[in-house]
Amino acid sequence: MMHEHLTSIYNELQTKYSYQKEYLQSVYEFFESISEVIEEDPRIIETNIIRNIVEPDRIITFKVPWEDDKGARHVNTGYRVQFNQALGPYKGGIRFTPKVNESILKFLGFEQTFKNSLTGIPLGGAKGGADFDPKHKSDQEILRFCRSYMMELHKFLGPNMDIPAGDLGVSQKTVGYMFGMYKRLTQRHEGVFTGKGTKYGGSLARTEATGYGIIYMVLAALKTYFQTDLKDKIVIISGSGNVAIHTGYKAQAMGAKVVAMSSIDGVIHHETGIDVSYLEYIKDNNLSIKDYTLRYPSAIFAENPKRIWEINCDIALPCATENELDLEEAKKLVDNGIMLLAEGANMPTTLDATHYFLDNNILFIPGKACNAGGVSVSGLEMQQNALHTYWDFDTVDQKLQTIMNRIFEDMYETARSYGDDKNLVKGANILSFKRVYQAMLEQGL
Ligand code: GLU
Repeated sequence: MMHEHLTSIYNELQTKYSYQKEYLQSVYEFFESISEVIEEDPRIIETNIIRNIVEPDRIITFKVPWEDDKGARHVNTGYRVQFNQALGPYKGGIRFTPKVNESILKFLGFEQTFKNSLTGIPLGGAKGGADFDPKHKSDQEILRFCRSYMMELHKFLGPNMDIPAGDLGVSQKTVGYMFGMYKRLTQRHEGVFTGKGTKYGGSLARTEATGYGIIYMVLAALKTYFQTDLKDKIVIISGSGNVAIHTGYKAQAMGAKVVAMSSIDGVIHHETGIDVSYLEYIKDNNLSIKDYTLRYPSAIFAENPKRIWEINCDIALPCATENELDLEEAKKLVDNGIMLLAEGANMPTTLDATHYFLDNNILFIPGKACNAGGVSVSGLEMQQNALHTYWDFDTVDQKLQTIMNRIFEDMYETARSYGDDKNLVKGANILSFKRVYQAMLEQGL
C-alpha cells in the first residue's frame, strides 16, 4: 500500500503532467518502495520534501537548427533536464533519438539522480538530448548538429556545474564533437564531458563500464542468493548497442552462454552462443542484424525483437530501452524457469512486469543499481581529469568492481533491514531516497 502522503502527491502530479507517461511511471515505481520511510522521519511530511524531490530543478529547452549534406534546413528540439544537485554537480548523459521528449528526459533525470547517489560519488542528476535521429546521417551532418546543439547548451555546462556524457545515439565520437565545440565557445578546456576519447582526457574502460558493471552486479547477486556464478548459465541480452555488446563480452568471459541478442530489426537466437564480436562488427558497419545468419546459418532470426523473451534462459538482461519487456513477456520468462532478471537499460521492464517478477520470487535487480557502472566510471574520469592524469585499464576496472560490489552490498543490506532481503527494488529506492532527501534537508534546499 502506498502511503497516503505519497498518493496525494502522485495524484497531483498525474493531474499536472497527465501526458508524461514515462515520468509518472518512474515516480510511481519509486513511491511504491519508499512508503515505509515516510513515518520514520517527521521532517519528510513537515517540509514537503517529496514534492520538492520529484520536480526537476530546471528544464532547458531550445531549438537546434542544422543543415544536411544536400543543403536542406532542419530544426530539432534540444533539452537538458537539470534534475537535482543535492549531492554534487548535475551529471547524466545526452540522448539523440527521435523519441526524445520532456517526459522521457524527466524520467531519466529522476532515475539518474538516484542512480548517481548509489555510486557513492558526489554527483547530482541530469539528462539531456534532442529528438534528432543520428541513424543514416553522415559524419558531417552529425558534426553540424552537435555544433548547433552546443551553441545553446554550453551556457549551462561547467566542470563543477553540469557534466554530460553519451547515452543512446551519442557515441564517443559524438561526445568529441560536442566537447570540441564547447572548448571553442568557452575558451575552457576542463573535462566538461565524460565518455571522451582516451587521447584527450577520456578514461580507459569507460566504453565497457556499463556492460561490465552489469555483470559484476549479476555475479554479486548470484553469489549472495544462489552461491553460484555465471559458469554455464544461459543468458539472453536484448539490444546490441554499446551496453549490450560489452555485457555480452563480459558474460562470456565469465563462462556464461549468451544465446540471444537483438536490435530494433529483430532477434538472433544462436543456441551454441552468439559471436559478440561479429555482432559488434554488424552494428559498427550499419548492417542489419539479420546478416548475422549469413555467417552463422544455424542461428535463427526473428523479425519481432520481442520474441527474445520467449527463449529459454537462466538470466535475462534487458539492455535496449525503456518499457521493452511487459507483463505477457514476464510471464513467458517465469514459465520458462528464469532465475534472475537484471535491468541493463533504464526502466526496461514495465511496472506490471516488475510486480510479476517480484510476486513470483524471481530475483530482480533494478536498473538504477545495475547499470550504474557507466556513470561510476564517468566519476572516475572526472577524478582523473582533476588530477591531470590517466589510470590504466585494470586500475579503472578494479575500481569499477569495487563500486558495483559496494552498491550491491548497500542495496542488499537496506532491503534486509526493511524485512525483505529479496526485494532489491525496495533496497535501491530506499537507500538512494534517504541519501538524496537528507542531503537536501541538511542544505536547506
Ligand atoms: N548515460 C549513462 C547513464 O544512463 C551514463 C551517464 C554519465 O556517465 O553521465 O547512466
